[in-house]
Amino acid sequence: MSARVFHRRTYGSSRRRRGGAGAPRVVEQLFAPAKEAEARGAVELPRNISVKELADLLSVSAIEVIKELMKNGILANITQTVDYEAATLVAKGLGFEVTEAPKPSIEAPRVTVKIPHLEGEGANLRPRPPVVTIMGHVDHGKTKLLDAIRQTNVVATEAGGITQHIGAYQVEIKGQKITFLDTPGHEAFTAMRARGAQVTDIAVLVVAADDGVMPQTIEAIDHAKAAGVPIVVAINKVDKPDANPERVKQQLADHSLVIEEWGGDVIAVPVSAKTKQGVPELLENLLVVAEVAELKANPQGAARGAVIEAQMDSTRGPMATLLVQEGTLNLSDVIVAGAAWGKVKALFNDRGKRLRRAGPAMPVEVLGFGGLPLAGDVFNVVVDERGARAIVEQRQGARRAEAMAGRSLNLDVVSAQIREGKVKQLNLVIKTDVQGSIEPIRASLEQLDAGTVKINVIHAASGSITESDVMLALASNGVIIGFNSRPESGAKNLADAEGVDIRFYDVIYNLVEDIKKAAAGMLEPTYVEVVEGHGEVRVVFSIAKKGKVGGSYVTDGKLSRGAMARVIRGGQVVSQSQIVSLHHFKEDVREMAAGFECGVLLEGFNDFKEGDIIEAYRKERANAPS
Ligand code: GDP
Repeated sequence: MSARVFHRRTYGSSRRRRGGAGAPRVVEQLFAPAKEAEARGAVELPRNISVKELADLLSVSAIEVIKELMKNGILANITQTVDYEAATLVAKGLGFEVTEAPKPSIEAPRVTVKIPHLEGEGANLRPRPPVVTIMGHVDHGKTKLLDAIRQTNVVATEAGGITQHIGAYQVEIKGQKITFLDTPGHEAFTAMRARGAQVTDIAVLVVAADDGVMPQTIEAIDHAKAAGVPIVVAINKVDKPDANPERVKQQLADHSLVIEEWGGDVIAVPVSAKTKQGVPELLENLLVVAEVAELKANPQGAARGAVIEAQMDSTRGPMATLLVQEGTLNLSDVIVAGAAWGKVKALFNDRGKRLRRAGPAMPVEVLGFGGLPLAGDVFNVVVDERGARAIVEQRQGARRAEAMAGRSLNLDVVSAQIREGKVKQLNLVIKTDVQGSIEPIRASLEQLDAGTVKINVIHAASGSITESDVMLALASNGVIIGFNSRPESGAKNLADAEGVDIRFYDVIYNLVEDIKKAAAGMLEPTYVEVVEGHGEVRVVFSIAKKGKVGGSYVTDGKLSRGAMARVIRGGQVVSQSQIVSLHHFKEDVREMAAGFECGVLLEGFNDFKEGDIIEAYRKERANAPS
């Protein structure tokens, strides 16, 4: 895939002008008495939805939606996006039933930079600084480059301000600002995406000229591409005698990043983080890419953005660095971020200076949260504390429900969604034991006639499955394929917790067949049976109203309530049903281990005989991470 469709000359002149009328705001309608909520049927809501889309989905006017949001303390205009919890409050307030937890929205990753143009708000849109993340292989100089940028472009400090490490900082070049996220690496970038925040506009890919493109360089390229973020390459360490920038350019081309000099559209700048050579040129080029992307935001209205980092300060309490993306954050604003909320008591910039307000692309440290939000949580300003509390409660409830339901994004679930026409793209992260397996797998998948579904390998590499792979799959609603590759323990735990599907194969044919079925919407979940234990019926007794109980001795494994059981008599299965209750003496127990006796009651089975064998088993999803 061609990495980026940015070209100064081609795109520079094509900037659209936006102007004209803002969104219709009918004040009378806003304050008209709300209609009584009447039962209006069930709706299914996505994770995020704009006010306008929500109004369309509910077949009500946008004004009604805005009013309902206001009732819940949320200020939003017609083009703003609200999250699932807020949309649920609206839908329920208008008398709809919300059917289930949000479905992970699986859609093509955006291939354009995120431009928060607010339709209909052209008059209020102003250019805003780009937000940049630095990525690349370990030791290629990401940290040193961030330091060099900070040192070369310190804005004339007020009151001797010392640079504070608040997770992000701004520099100024030629009177224009650039915001840098201070946590380098594609892992942090994708982790934030997985939590819902899209903050980065441009990725700077640092490649050491003496070392060349390395595995994490490729990983970073894939993570940036999966997010649809343009890449600017910094060929670093050019001061070193063994630096070979030309080789780096060749290697980049091998990974579909063709630089401008060679007729491509990727900007590459030779730099030295040590001598600071090339750093101003790098910054100027970032401004060029930002200009092409026409980054704009509306500085008016309630602020919205993302949490960059948060920590507990022993004297000041929870401190969070927020990046404002829309609107202006003011002192005393009430904010909700993830499951935390608070009232802004103080705002500081990256030099520790107290501020009264912060506009778009500005990172600020905020004092006043009651709890700690998480990096990557989206934040919103709401009308009052009551609204904030309602949203947080709703979110906590939704999280509990989600945790209980398991957010599973299994290949068979995706397949069902393809069948229903809800999904048009199948995103895959492929890890193999050896490098040589990647191309045959990729080639076989490319040859698949997947109908209208696009099979998109967002990352393929050799080695074990890492947390970073799981994050990438999570952020891209993808599935992980392990071809003779196993997950590291942290990755397995993360995949289990987040419900990311890891499928294991050792034969390419089976892998390709499954993907083919999934893309055709025909992959059914397959289950394997796991025998948990056996019991032998030694005495049969009856309990009034319940029926016959098999007084059994557990010979191996365990018997547990809820497990499936078959009754075997003389080698024949005479019944198959569920264990509905287990009793040990008078006590109701959940499970009984080998060597103990218990009374077993099976659903709908009233025919135990002495000598029957009870075989307990469970069905588990096949191909689950082990
Ligand atoms: P990171 O792991 O990508 O953050 O890499 P660091 O910023 O920690 O840099 C790794 C090493 O390379 C450090 O010893 C740096 O001093 C060194 N380094 C970074 N940039 C340059 C450079 O431009 N020239 C030279 N000679 N060394 C550099």
